[in-house]
Amino acid sequence: MERLTGIGVSPGVAVGRAVVLAQPSEVVRFPIPPERVDRELAAIEHAVEQSRRQLQDIRARLASGPARDMAPLFDAQLLMLDDPLLVGRARQIVRDERVNAAWAVHRAYEEVRQHFTAMEDPYLRERETDIADVSGRLRMNLRHRGVGLRELLSEIDGPSILVADELTASLAAQLDWTRVQGFATDAGSRTYHTAILARSLKVPAVVGLHDLSSRIAAGTPIVLDGTTGEVAVDPEPSAIDAARRRATRSRRGAARAPSVQAPVSTADGVRIRIDANIELVEDLPFLQEFGAEGIGLYRSEFLLSGRTLESATEDVQYHAYCSLVEQVAPRPVTIRTFDLDERHTGLGRAPERSRARPGLRGLRLGLAHPEVLGTQLRALVRASARGPLRIMFPFVTGVEEMRQARAIFEGICHDLGAAPVPLGAMIETPAAALISDMLAREVDFFTIGTNDLIQYTLAVDRTDDRLSDLYEPLHPAVLRLIRVVSRAARRHRVPVSLCGEMASDPAMVGLLVGLGLTAFSMTPGAIPLVRRVIEELRVEEVRRLARHALRLSTAAEVEQYLFDALAASTGESSRR
Ligand code: PEP
Ligand code: MG
Repeated sequence: MERLTGIGVSPGVAVGRAVVLAQPSEVVRFPIPPERVDRELAAIEHAVEQSRRQLQDIRARLASGPARDMAPLFDAQLLMLDDPLLVGRARQIVRDERVNAAWAVHRAYEEVRQHFTAMEDPYLRERETDIADVSGRLRMNLRHRGVGLRELLSEIDGPSILVADELTASLAAQLDWTRVQGFATDAGSRTYHTAILARSLKVPAVVGLHDLSSRIAAGTPIVLDGTTGEVAVDPEPSAIDAARRRATRSRRGAARAPSVQAPVSTADGVRIRIDANIELVEDLPFLQEFGAEGIGLYRSEFLLSGRTLESATEDVQYHAYCSLVEQVAPRPVTIRTFDLDERHTGLGRAPERSRARPGLRGLRLGLAHPEVLGTQLRALVRASARGPLRIMFPFVTGVEEMRQARAIFEGICHDLGAAPVPLGAMIETPAAALISDMLAREVDFFTIGTNDLIQYTLAVDRTDDRLSDLYEPLHPAVLRLIRVVSRAARRHRVPVSLCGEMASDPAMVGLLVGLGLTAFSMTPGAIPLVRRVIEELRVEEVRRLARHALRLSTAAEVEQYLFDALAASTGESSRR
């Protein structure tokens, strides 16, 4: 057992097993039970194949363009995908150490990197960059299989304590705090942003622990006392039992899922709607557990995972949508039509969802392949007889697209003799936001997709780790666009909600309400916390906050301002 003393920044006792987050690559390491080893090995295989396709794609594009001399460089990276020292070693780490795949790839990369750094030969040393690229790509593909940090953590057995060198507020916002009992960080002080957030969320936290995150093994039991700043690493079982009893007492009243799905309102009585984003029908039980009012975003392209488009026939889709609608009814479900990537929609191939590339994706792709869009709309219209359903189009950029989509939809309703359902547009491109007053006349509702809106406004690929610092939700341009949409929606009386990751960030939700939004959709695990934050908001105050934030000229200034406001309000509530 080891005893450490850091700075207790948020009171309470927490007990759990260590989950370690290594930054800046944001790789989490956590222990896996034996029955999960095969799944992690399969995830590595999938990431290798996906990386191979991406690299072959890049190589082919280069080979046919003016930079054709660079194409062979990618042969080296393709070879590395088969290198036993990297992928083979990662498999071995998963099997021997029983840790998650992303961490195993990270570890294997670190071993190879050290090997390369020690080499004299400058040519071979240069290969270090390639290996960094390949392992980064593998990790990205592992992360972007639709499994976010929150989902990863939700699969860990029992309560956990997050150990990180640093925990940013946006990362903190991605965590399911009903499972993460507390956190310990190497860096930090009492005024540390995340510490302020931890206090307002009543999650025990100790910061300033120097190098704990690099020394601790994933799965090690920890007892953390946020009042005294003490952290016991691997304590005796009797000490764990005693701490657990204290923890139960001190966590009473902390972030918990509501037992009833009461609608949520701000402290001054403004009703805020909270729906859930889901990808898989298996996520539905979470809806109940976390208290979502319905489904605000069903990413239907997940239905195609591992399937070809042709095999997702109208009937296959119809049954899937019926099952979803029936399970959620009488609460409403908003189903987004496929947001697919043009490169992977060829016949006989399993399509992939779109995340980064602009171009032929979302509704545009649907209009270019009306048979695909038509099949999906027919299945949706038929399923709408089973319960309340709304249809939403992704990646809308212009009024003509909405008109064409509506014409196809109305033709289908006419053929089927079915009543129309509400049709909405996702506002996730700057173009759509800027013409939202015009689009408002064409739609029944708007949903702001900030994940894409941020990437296209700031010209930052949301899947590129190297640019993550530039991906700034609080950038003044993003805030202005959100305000434009919120105002247009209000003026035209079009319901609007926001379903990007921003909605689930407890530090940002007040600002969003201040910008005029009263409906959000988010990952189910984020709902309990966001509810708690909303219940403490006063609309007049957050409107003032938003007005001031909109006058600031950088994302850093806005962030600082929000945290100062949060710190002031938590100080106030502790004095009460
Ligand atoms: C968005 O872009 O904000 C969104 C919710 O959609 P996705 O993350 O599926 O692109
Ligand atoms: Mg999107």
